[in-house]
Amino acid sequence: MTELSLTLDERHTADFEMIGNGGFAPLTGFQGSADWERVCAEMRTADGEYWPIPITLATELECEVGDTIALCSDEGKALGRIRVEEIWERDARSEAERVYGTTDEAHPGVAAIYAEGSRCIAGPIEVDALPDHEEAFMRRYKTPAEHKADFEARGWKKIVAFQTRNPIHRAHEYLTKAALETCDGLFIHPLIGKTKAGDIPADVRMRCYEVLMEKYYPEDRVVLGVKPAKMHYAGPREAVLHAIVRRNYGATHFIVGRDHAGAGDYYGTYDAQQIFETIDIDELGIEPLMFEHTFWCNKCEGLASNKTCPHEKEDRLFLSGTAVREMLGNGQRPPHEFSRDEVADILIDAYKED
Ligand SMILES: [Zn+2]
Repeated sequence: MTELSLTLDERHTADFEMIGNGGFAPLTGFQGSADWERVCAEMRTADGEYWPIPITLATELECEVGDTIALCSDEGKALGRIRVEEIWERDARSEAERVYGTTDEAHPGVAAIYAEGSRCIAGPIEVDALPDHEEAFMRRYKTPAEHKADFEARGWKKIVAFQTRNPIHRAHEYLTKAALETCDGLFIHPLIGKTKAGDIPADVRMRCYEVLMEKYYPEDRVVLGVKPAKMHYAGPREAVLHAIVRRNYGATHFIVGRDHAGAGDYYGTYDAQQIFETIDIDELGIEPLMFEHTFWCNKCEGLASNKTCPHEKEDRLFLSGTAVREMLGNGQRPPHEFSRDEVADILIDAYKED
């Protein structure tokens, strides 16, 4: 028998890591057709547990059911193996429609599944090693079990997790702190896996988080981790996936903002919040905390939202992403009501290196 091996691409490497480190529990391998169908149709695995986005392994590798295939990361590291239980054809268009709500190839998540192809292999994985990451991430890297143990050691019972793939500016600092007011601890959990072109590099973001932790968050109430997963940009369905992953890491509450995990205009502003109305929260095992868009208001003299601020548009500081990028690119700090100077300086330096 010849030895079969497969080098995973970057996205599948991230999936392997999340399955392997326990972040994708209850998944123990790449999903097959029965799981795929029920996930697409009902947001549940074939066994009936909540699961919103199929985690599948598309490959053209010649193999048969019963084969064991050695798996390597996109960087060539030996990770473990998969035991092939099923070889099947995925209907990527149907997945796009039901999971992403669009079949438009311009949607980054849809484009990614179309590009992968439709022939999939499924089966449980065995893990020998996890993929490597840059030092900036590894110094914060813990598995879900390790974070759970850490939260327990700190005596935290009510833990709110915050997902982000951007630097934290004042508006998000405010909402994480508003959530922390009613919780024992805050778990800042940025995604470090594959994002889309134009997103700020993850190592730059890590430096932004670290300087905020050091200067503006109480050390004994906040934990910074990293989440080595890819983005799907699946909007509401991805908000549910983000919540499940944070439950697995030990959080009890999860911040869901407006336009959570969306891309372009594919999803309504509140879709990612409203999807939780269709879900049994006790069964899900983590409670979403819904937040409005937040901003600095000159009349309130502080950060606020539509929920808390009665003032007019002209009293509120609004800067578009494009405007902020332009300022930073020109070496100019945005107003400190928008961004902490320490964070602005890191971003200005990063633009200079570009
Ligand atoms: Zn106001």
